[in-house]
Amino acid sequence: MVIASVNPTTAEVLKTFSPLGAEEVDRAIAQAATTFETYRLTSFEQRAQWLENTANLLQQQRETLARLMTLEMGKPIAEARAEIDKCAWVCRYYAEQGAAFLEPEFIPTEASYSAIHYQPLGIILAVMPWNFPFWQVFRFAAPALMAGNVALLKHASNVPQCALAIAQIFRQAGFPEGVFQTLLIPGSAVADLVADPRIKAATLTGSEAAGTSLAQAAGQHLKKTVLELGGSDPFIVMPSANISQAIATAVQARMINNGQSCIAAKRFIVHEAVYDTFAEGIKAAFESWVIGDPLEPTTQLGPLATAAIRDELHAQVELALGHGAKAFYRRSLDLPTQCRQGYFFGPTILTEVTPNNPVFTQELFGPVAMLFRVSSLTAAIELANATPFGLGASAWTQDSDEAEILVRDLEAGAVFINAMVKSDPRLPFGGIKTSGYGRELGRAGLLEFVNIKTVCRA
Ligand code: NAP
Repeated sequence: MVIASVNPTTAEVLKTFSPLGAEEVDRAIAQAATTFETYRLTSFEQRAQWLENTANLLQQQRETLARLMTLEMGKPIAEARAEIDKCAWVCRYYAEQGAAFLEPEFIPTEASYSAIHYQPLGIILAVMPWNFPFWQVFRFAAPALMAGNVALLKHASNVPQCALAIAQIFRQAGFPEGVFQTLLIPGSAVADLVADPRIKAATLTGSEAAGTSLAQAAGQHLKKTVLELGGSDPFIVMPSANISQAIATAVQARMINNGQSCIAAKRFIVHEAVYDTFAEGIKAAFESWVIGDPLEPTTQLGPLATAAIRDELHAQVELALGHGAKAFYRRSLDLPTQCRQGYFFGPTILTEVTPNNPVFTQELFGPVAMLFRVSSLTAAIELANATPFGLGASAWTQDSDEAEILVRDLEAGAVFINAMVKSDPRLPFGGIKTSGYGRELGRAGLLEFVNIKTVCRA
């Protein structure tokens, strides 16, 4: 498989790369293993300083890095800038909080000293997706490096320049050579890497297929994994909701990152009392959303990241329609000349997607919303839970009893009431069911890749 940057706005090939050979990969692992032996002994203060330097560099290079992301995968430039800011934030968060999270915890017992010590595991392999090419990597790397681990990044094959830029930033920030390395290799090379005894654990953000494959390989070698996989998040609207706010947030939550976010709202489950107002509201917003070159500051929706993703979404919409769904809204594209070869997809709203429709349980990774009408809270929750996924859920109600029931009964790793689902360095992030397991961010995320060592002195 080719490792290449292709601008999805124009279909122009920007740069191609040859994958690393077995010897180069082996050298990188050997360097990581050697570096770990000294890096694990560095102080929290020193690691925090390197993370602060990383945050400063991200902010200094914000414009160049944001542009690189937009060129490689097509997100609107304003969102790319915000992504760089969030990466700086996560570095600062762990620089400030990491030491306190990792201090030994004393537990009184009959022993003269009993405590929990948190120690790094060694080399962690990170397999990452292209949709948030910086954020996905930094939310793994900041806590992992703060804990004293070293990292090997296998990034998605369509964002190699972002992958190389990230490794360069960690080096410039002062982290010793070998603490963070990018390996330009295809997904098919991952299973062999996981088998290498020098690699102690792995994390993957991506599709269910990739997650299953990594977990299988890791399971054979009894290695710890964290998996952040797909989602088809519900967005529930009850009669007491602030409807205009719900509509505005719903559209943003569906369109963010050109519709390619794991925690995008994908299924809009609306009470019949407010259904028509909500449906007309999101239709009007889909109609007026500004589509075009993502480098233009006014653009709200750019292209999908690859031709294959666009074709797959098209096939899913056709499949849904072929099984009885209705296109309540389908926008035809009128693109500026420079975008006509790009991988754009017209915003679409599907209704009448019934449980026997194959798309009912699929993730739609692009600007396509599924709209459902329900007559009660119980029906809304049942529908929300009727997918294999369990990543996030957003629910809109002013009724606090309803809110409590939603928090209790929605099968998801996160429930947001009257707000869209989003990640935050201070709060754990992750899914249940086929959306994966383990957590990133917060203290829980930091503790995924440490040896929780019990220490007792008689
Ligand atoms: P993908 O194909 O699974 O790619 C993700 C990463 O896995 C890439 O680095 C890819 O490498 C690698 N990979 C592919 N096949 C592999 C295999 N058999 N073994 C090991 N690694 C493999 O993901 P995608 O479809 O491009 O990305 C979108 C998916 O990611 C969506 O389902 C989305 O919901 C999910 N996602 C989840 C989260 C979360 O936090 N839960 C966040 C973002 C995205 P190559 O590029 O070389 O194939």
